[in-house]
Amino acid sequence: MLPYGKQWLDEADIEAVVQVLQGDFITQGPAIEAFERKVADYAGVRYGVAFSNGTAALHGACFAAGIAAGDEVITTPLTFLASSNCVLYQGGTPIFADIDPVTYNIDPRQIEQKLTPRTKAIIPVDFSGQPAEMDRIQEIARQHNLIVIEDAAHSLGAEYQGRKVGTWADMTMFSFHPVKHVTTGEGGMIVTDNEEFYGKLLSFRSHGMTRDPDKLIQNDGPWYYEMQALGYNYRMTDIQAALGISQMDKLDGFIARRRELVDIYNRELADIPGLVLPKQHAESNSSWHLYVVRFLPQYFQSSRKEIFEQLRAWNIGVNVHYIPVYLQPYYKGLGYEKGLCPHAENYYESCITLPLFPGMKDEDVLYVVRAIKELI
Ligand SMILES: *Cc1c(COP(=O)(O)O)cnc(C)c1O
Repeated sequence: MLPYGKQWLDEADIEAVVQVLQGDFITQGPAIEAFERKVADYAGVRYGVAFSNGTAALHGACFAAGIAAGDEVITTPLTFLASSNCVLYQGGTPIFADIDPVTYNIDPRQIEQKLTPRTKAIIPVDFSGQPAEMDRIQEIARQHNLIVIEDAAHSLGAEYQGRKVGTWADMTMFSFHPVKHVTTGEGGMIVTDNEEFYGKLLSFRSHGMTRDPDKLIQNDGPWYYEMQALGYNYRMTDIQAALGISQMDKLDGFIARRRELVDIYNRELADIPGLVLPKQHAESNSSWHLYVVRFLPQYFQSSRKEIFEQLRAWNIGVNVHYIPVYLQPYYKGLGYEKGLCPHAENYYESCITLPLFPGMKDEDVLYVVRAIKELI
């Protein structure tokens, strides 16, 4: 089966991991800081804090932002569960603002309509690798004194108005799951320019504990440590960080290859009535995590489900991104109802994600194209 996404590992990656295994530190050694430095420099920000996965990183960002019971956080329904669950972890309430039906990103006008005196933060998601409208989202946040946490799990290396993702939000999350742009197996990171958030993220990652003599409330001696907040063990290992450092060297090449593959899809699938190809906002330069097409039901004899099943029968690992989060049984149990975000629900009825990953060959794309053309 041709998967929808897949990691790309080489000998240098394997060698980097083996070197850590032969050294003195296998967790929280020098590779962690080097990896944080490398990702923060790449994104153009001062600080990076690595976490055991992207979801833990989002949880850390919600903690650093001070999200607590009674706070509302506006986010998109068209995302992986994590970007809304992290609000629940802190006792906050996710408020879903509908997507723009063209870019599939959260619509800033919908954000404005969902603002209340309880709104504390906005979590936009750069869907499929295309940055959300970060200039307008920042403007809304400044006007209403809100914190912006950008879920950039899809968009490492993407740009908005010529500026890298990472430089726009107060805190930006990257994921290093194997289907994302670079991998550490499991892993995530928050990048930020804010020193206060940086300190809180470091503490939250490791039990809320500190040994820093300047921060201690009392000091019983050289062994002494203090837990000053409720944190978790969300640490990444040096084994993973070494893999991440090695992967970062290849990131720009990975993105360039993704863009080439997208050009082939766009060229070969153009002009099929009812097949909607991904559209780019004029200000954004996507790093293309996903290539999502929509089969508008009135144009095709087969349903989306049938097309999906037939593509799987051609051994093509198509997928659906995403079921609107609030339609999940757990969220329904919290009181969210169908009909809340009509554009996201409408999108969900017709979308299919086609395979896209750097190791994919031109012939693989042409095979997917041929399958689609024969099926419809
Ligand atoms: C992958 C992903 C995450 C979570 O990342 P993990 O590293 O798997 O925990 C969060 N949000 C989005 C949109 C993602 O795609």
